[in-house]
Amino acid sequence: MLLEAFWPMILLANCPVNSKQRIAMNSTQNPAYEKIDSLWINVHLSTMTQSGPYGMIENGALAVSGQKIAWIGKRHEIPRAVESNAVEIYDGDSGWITPGLIDCHTHLVYGGSRAREFELRLQGATYEEIARQGGGIRSTVAATREADDESLFKQSALRLASLLQEGVTTVEIKSGYGLDLETELRMLRVARQLGERYPVTVVPTFLGAHALPPEYEGQSDRYIDFVCNEVMPQVAAQQLAIAVDAFCESIGFTPEQTERVFKTAKNFGLAIKLHAEQLSDLQGAALAARYGALSADHLEYASEEGVKAMADSGTVAVLLPGAFYFLRETRVPPIDLLRRYEVPIALSTDSNPGSSPTESLLLMLNMACTLFRLTPEEALAGITRNGAKALGLHNTIGTLEQGKDADFVIWNISEPAELAYRIGSNPLRHAIKKGKLIRTLDT
Ligand SMILES: [Zn+2]
Repeated sequence: MLLEAFWPMILLANCPVNSKQRIAMNSTQNPAYEKIDSLWINVHLSTMTQSGPYGMIENGALAVSGQKIAWIGKRHEIPRAVESNAVEIYDGDSGWITPGLIDCHTHLVYGGSRAREFELRLQGATYEEIARQGGGIRSTVAATREADDESLFKQSALRLASLLQEGVTTVEIKSGYGLDLETELRMLRVARQLGERYPVTVVPTFLGAHALPPEYEGQSDRYIDFVCNEVMPQVAAQQLAIAVDAFCESIGFTPEQTERVFKTAKNFGLAIKLHAEQLSDLQGAALAARYGALSADHLEYASEEGVKAMADSGTVAVLLPGAFYFLRETRVPPIDLLRRYEVPIALSTDSNPGSSPTESLLLMLNMACTLFRLTPEEALAGITRNGAKALGLHNTIGTLEQGKDADFVIWNISEPAELAYRIGSNPLRHAIKKGKLIRTLDT
């Protein structure tokens, strides 16, 4: 019911793309590839492995067995057994296949809207002024606390559906608009429900240290005590998150408070992420790196020292061009430093009501190129290979390789750079999640 109500275009059955395009069927057994559920031919592949630009394989083919990629390579090199055992063979009509897209930093679950705040900012108020006046995050906290479970799910599902329509197959979702025990846990449960009801992997992150709730005004240390001693133990006990995040900023929490959150997270065996250096340099990136963080995100004001620390710890830099654009920031993240120290760069929507109200990951590709001067290949790596790294999932998703999850998208484009080049268009033709065709456009 919910799928029909909120995402009428979705197809859950693993049905052929088009009966006219299905060109062969055979079920001959072969020990090497005895169960090939589908084989895609007449396609080009951007595998996003690091073997050449885009990990490109022109005139390629991809075979799926169950939820995994069973074989990938040149069309003329398909093992005979793969082709003969394929239950379904699909003609990709010269489309390009990329890994399923990964949105590794979102605040997708929340109540209400901040369109009024947008109006105020256009009348001259700054993001910091609005935050200090109790607006900003706090207004979303109030709306999220008020929303019942069903309403919170419905509002969030609509946003998730937009991401899925652009080929997102994995999404990270943070809490952080409850800031009390009940609502933080509720947000994480809604995130989990979204992953259960939609064909997408949801990676939940606990962001209790997002903002100071009104009831803790002037008592930020006490609030951090509450996050560490009362909320995080419940999050861990109920297995509601795999990572913990914090907002280390002059209008958020200090590095000392952030470190307490990290120490507690480590004790619970939870991974670490950090909103760092968005508006000033508090050396959050280096702090995150010291704790072996999966990622440090934003990073407009990151220093060379911070970047070097990230390189040493293998921490991914998650860039968020939507927030940079929406807040009309002018300080660009240190892209050259990130390249020089070979820090993996990921990109994400940062989908949230205050500073990045977008549900388009494809638009972030273009913005990362136009605003941050990433190359289209770097940008695409940011929402595939490096997005997976930022979630600690690089062994199973993010590139197209034998044995990885069969999460991929077939695009109606003539070359991979077209994904970053276009503004506001969606050339998705088919999306496949764990081997199942979940969305198709009739073209
Ligand atoms: Zn964020």
